[in-house]
Amino acid sequence: MFPIQRPRRLRSNSQLRRMVREIVLTTNDLIYPLFAVPGEGIAQEVKSMPGVYQLSVDKIVEEAKEVYDLGIPAIILFGIPADKDIDATGAWHDHGIVQVAATAVKEAVPDLIVIADTCLCEYTSHGHCGYLEVGDLTGRVLNDPTLELLKKTAVSQVKAGVDIIAPSGMMDGFVRAIRSGLDEAGYIDTPILSYAAKYASAYYGPFRDAAESTPQFGDRRTYQMDPANSREAIKEVALDVAEGADMLMVKPALAYMDIIWQVKQATNLPVAAYNVSGEYAMIKAAALNGWIDEQRVVMETMTSFKRAGTDLILTYHAKDIARWLHEESMSTAKWLGDRAASEVQTTPVAPCIRTPGFEPLNPEQLASAPVAEETNA
Ligand SMILES: [Zn+2]
Repeated sequence: MFPIQRPRRLRSNSQLRRMVREIVLTTNDLIYPLFAVPGEGIAQEVKSMPGVYQLSVDKIVEEAKEVYDLGIPAIILFGIPADKDIDATGAWHDHGIVQVAATAVKEAVPDLIVIADTCLCEYTSHGHCGYLEVGDLTGRVLNDPTLELLKKTAVSQVKAGVDIIAPSGMMDGFVRAIRSGLDEAGYIDTPILSYAAKYASAYYGPFRDAAESTPQFGDRRTYQMDPANSREAIKEVALDVAEGADMLMVKPALAYMDIIWQVKQATNLPVAAYNVSGEYAMIKAAALNGWIDEQRVVMETMTSFKRAGTDLILTYHAKDIARWLHEESMSTAKWLGDRAASEVQTTPVAPCIRTPGFEPLNPEQLASAPVAEETNA
């Protein structure tokens, strides 16, 4: 007896598969992380993250323009200061590296959304995310005094032009402290993207090379979450929502898709996932060895994040993804153009004009590009 239901009927060709596809990844979903360093003309590749660079502010501006022209709506800035101290002065100083970079980017590319990572570990001499008791060698950060530094940091970042504050230090009450600091300073409309469920993860290894933020002693397990816990993630999320968070983040992403899914079910706020440095490094290493198809693995991974409930993805692959999506939409546009360009009624999208190796769309392709974008694989 043949089965009545044959799911393969809807997989039999690419047009049918397009019609019943549930998840579509677009450039709108992407946030690109950038690392700012002092100096000029500097682009220092991070050894464990091929294709990712520490950039001086002039290079950050160039990169921001490229990111914007690729259709990626936002960057998130991390800073590596010239000097570190116990008060994390480089984090909240008006001439801190992130503040300077944010101002320069907003001047050059006003429409690009600039998010600032709001934490202290890149700026403290010991590499922890806040104040420590004098003589402490375990890394047990003092919660409430640290909140004052975070408030100061957030206000100075917004003053410098930052659009969204993203606190990542997992201090209790940090969303509320930052919200009140921003409101008191008159920045009532600046959203907070909270790293709500951030785990003490070994996947951060390469990032610490990039941000030069490895703790000098101890670890971050007294403030970041235990990878074994999921109910606790929902507790953290509920607290951040009550404290005024506008968006929530789960970090890392790949090994925490169940958490992304649960957070999505538990809240109606937008959910972001941080596809972290270790996840990036694993794919890059395998791809450079010729062991996997990088493009297909990256696209499958991103699609899986979306399927798990992610609205936004912070990823070092963002520029590659945007290029692949453009390539795909252009080939579909060409196909449509060959068939019936004159009959397609659409509005044009911004052409990808700054990306090396890409031809601008011709008017015929432009006319059909949005159709292509909505139907890409
Ligand atoms: Zn930190």
